[in-house]
Amino acid sequence: MSTATDTLDFLIIGAGPAGLSAADAAAREGLSYLVIEKGTIANTIRQYPVGRTMFSTPNELEMREGSLQPIREKPTREELLSHYIHFVLDHDLHITTGEEVIDVAGNYEDGFTVRTRCRSFDGKQNENNYHARSILFAIGAMEYPRHLDVPGEDLPKVYHRFVDPYPYVRKEVMVVGGGNSAAEAALFLSEEGARTTMAIWREDWENRDPKAGAMKHWVRSPLEKEIAEGRLRVILYKQIDEVTYDSVRLTTDEGESKTIPNDVVFVLVGSDADLTLLKKLGVKTELGKLTEVPVYDTETCETNVRGIYVAAPCASRAYRDKRRVALEFLLNKESLYGSIDCRRYCWLRSHVHPELSRVRDSICGHRTYSGFSAGSVSRFEQMDRDQLCDHFHHRNYRRSNLCGNR
Ligand SMILES: Cc1cc2nc3c(=O)[nH]c(=O)nc-3n(C[C@H](O)[C@H](O)[C@H](O)COP(=O)(O)OP(=O)(O)OC[C@H]3O[C@@H](n4cnc5c(N)ncnc54)[C@H](O)[C@@H]3O)c2cc1C
Repeated sequence: MSTATDTLDFLIIGAGPAGLSAADAAAREGLSYLVIEKGTIANTIRQYPVGRTMFSTPNELEMREGSLQPIREKPTREELLSHYIHFVLDHDLHITTGEEVIDVAGNYEDGFTVRTRCRSFDGKQNENNYHARSILFAIGAMEYPRHLDVPGEDLPKVYHRFVDPYPYVRKEVMVVGGGNSAAEAALFLSEEGARTTMAIWREDWENRDPKAGAMKHWVRSPLEKEIAEGRLRVILYKQIDEVTYDSVRLTTDEGESKTIPNDVVFVLVGSDADLTLLKKLGVKTELGKLTEVPVYDTETCETNVRGIYVAAPCASRAYRDKRRVALEFLLNKESLYGSIDCRRYCWLRSHVHPELSRVRDSICGHRTYSGFSAGSVSRFEQMDRDQLCDHFHHRNYRRSNLCGNR
């Protein structure tokens, strides 16, 4: 086991878009930070279907305005992955990959200890300890794909993620689910020669209200074309009863039992975040529309446990909201500043805003905060207010937030 001796200002768990945005902001703030990622950079996006076009437009996804320039209107998985990876490389963000956070202990006053596990190239497992004053859980909401909990779901032919259609040409494939991921998978499979059946609940199939999570029209239209041309079959079902080596038995919407020949099943019915570490730290959770979510301050992203923050995507109430909040998070990075140590921010700002020194003093108990290097401090001191604001992108800073934060 190795133990880092320095205490980081800010440790970020997860290198998805939210974690990368946080790292970017922390770097710009001059904080000492580290992102710990158990998979790869933008691991969730790497697990999207190969060649998939994003639903979101570049301005909703890019790290800096104008920096993501896809060939078409919207980026593909590959373009987006490359964008995030090059952002990390170009800005030399501090990220370790292939390292999983397995425990977080401690408190804001004494600092947090983060325990991780990673596998080295010789196959040995190593454990590391890090210390940090604040932790941001940017862990997304994809950890646990939901299951149907039916007999046969543990067979090796049943998958809970869909990556590419090419192994399934002329195979009997069933996709279970009513959201965009299931619809897209069914479409890709059908277009690439799999004999595809989509099993969907009637209410999902008939839902045309985008606000209620209806399938995107640019997914639905080609899907309907595949159906009209006889390549894709849709079954409205009530429940899946059993998966066997060569079939799926289900009950249709009309109550009829059907056994359908089958080689492969994709169960794409959503996923949940892993809240184990947050709960162990004492973070309150509540029941959202679909699943359990952490409770947090929507202004600052801080939870009820001081120093523990959640990136909004894993904290919102439903999948649709998750995406909306994720995008807000990416678009409006201001919310992130709540997750950066307020005292340092006050201290810095008080150099150019005399009134802020009063805020700082009331917050920090008159302590002088000296976390920046002497070089940075003299550089900041030479900047006027606008330059400093530009430097830290705090033009939209609202004093009331700051005062309310601590
Ligand atoms: C098929 C599909 C298509 C989608 N399409 C879109 C779209 O078009 N537009 C859109 O806005 N959203 C889309 N989404 C949702 C999108 O993926 C999320 O909004 C986005 O990834 C959320 O970003 P995030 O950084 O919060 O979480 P994630 O991208 O999920 O990143 C979380 C990271 O944390 C890591 N992690 C988790 N636990 C630990 C741990 N204990 N230790 C270390 N690392 C950990 C994970 O490996 C992961 O890399 C789609 C999702 C799916 C499944």
